Amino acid sequence: MIKKELIIIGSGAAGLTAAIYASRAGLDFSVIERYPLAGGQIVNTSEVDNYPGFIRTTGAELSQKLREHAEDCRTDFITDCVSKIKKQSDRFEIKGEKETYYSKTVIAACGAARKKLGVKGEDRLSGSGVSYCAVCDGAFFRGRTAAVIGGGNTAAEEALYLSKLAKKVYLVHRRDKLKANKALQSRLHSAENIQTVLNCSLAEIIGDHKVEAIEVKRNGVSEVIHTDGVFSAIGISPESGLLQGLAQLDEYGFAIAGEDCKTSAEGLFAAGDIRSKPLRQIVTAAADGASAVLSAEKYLNG
Ligand SMILES: Cc1cc2nc3c(=O)[nH]c(=O)nc-3n(C[C@H](O)[C@H](O)[C@H](O)COP(=O)(O)OP(=O)(O)OC[C@H]3O[C@@H](n4cnc5c(N)ncnc54)[C@H](O)[C@@H]3O)c2cc1C
Repeated sequence: MIKKELIIIGSGAAGLTAAIYASRAGLDFSVIERYPLAGGQIVNTSEVDNYPGFIRTTGAELSQKLREHAEDCRTDFITDCVSKIKKQSDRFEIKGEKETYYSKTVIAACGAARKKLGVKGEDRLSGSGVSYCAVCDGAFFRGRTAAVIGGGNTAAEEALYLSKLAKKVYLVHRRDKLKANKALQSRLHSAENIQTVLNCSLAEIIGDHKVEAIEVKRNGVSEVIHTDGVFSAIGISPESGLLQGLAQLDEYGFAIAGEDCKTSAEGLFAAGDIRSKPLRQIVTAAADGASAVLSAEKYLNG
């Protein structure tokens, strides 16, 4: 039976930073990650230019550095997918697919995943032209056409990344203005092969066995845009299913916790993108990882 003082679920920026701080605090802890490779969302991020100390890097490089740092702190990494957390009198029972773990405290650093588009054709053509990650699937669109759906920073980054591979990229947004920051918008304007399509909502993804086109609607009028790929970049949903019924979640499913990362369940802390907060970035995920350990340590010390 694995019994710990602290179990950290997830090895993204929040979980790996929590591991570094837990090691410094001398806690008996493990990190449980469902994938063999630690790093979370940043593994698939092409360019990162806003993490302090790294003027320009890639997500893969930054996640490797974070992982190496956590390994250097003798982090015990367990590859398992947690399916349930139960609160018992003075500890948590954490059910994984391979093993059941017991711990006095838990830091849920499970992050978030891309939202689905929710239109006809999406599920059927997922993996056949419909994608949720340009860095993962962009190479399939070399010399072809791709459409990115969304108007925020992630959508802009995905369109810019694809513009280096595809011959033409459509950036389709339902509003009349993009939400992406000014720096990204100016890069979008300079990219000759990106066409921004505003005031258009996606109605359907068309194709028999692979994506052939999208149907968009502007003021109720349909228009068909031919494309080989569709990339969803309309936001993220928290991976908070494990916390349902255990801790309070907000209307979007993010765990309600303050800067101290304390959830409504004593001994359970939420760090990183899973937490209800105004800014979801690597730097704020890392900050949460550190704060969550401090709170867990205080809880353990009574
Ligand atoms: C395309 C894209 C570009 C971005 N660019 C930037 C950028 O340039 N700069 C920036 O600061 N931020 C950027 N972000 C945001 C940033 O990546 C996130 O805010 C940050 O990585 C969140 O870290 P996290 O540790 O909270 O979660 P995640 O990175 O999502 O990690 C969560 C981990 O938990 C694991 N997990 C989940 N559920 C379970 C379970 N049940 N059992 C076991 N393991 C589980 C997951 O596998 C994952 O490894 C970008 C995001 C995207 C999608």
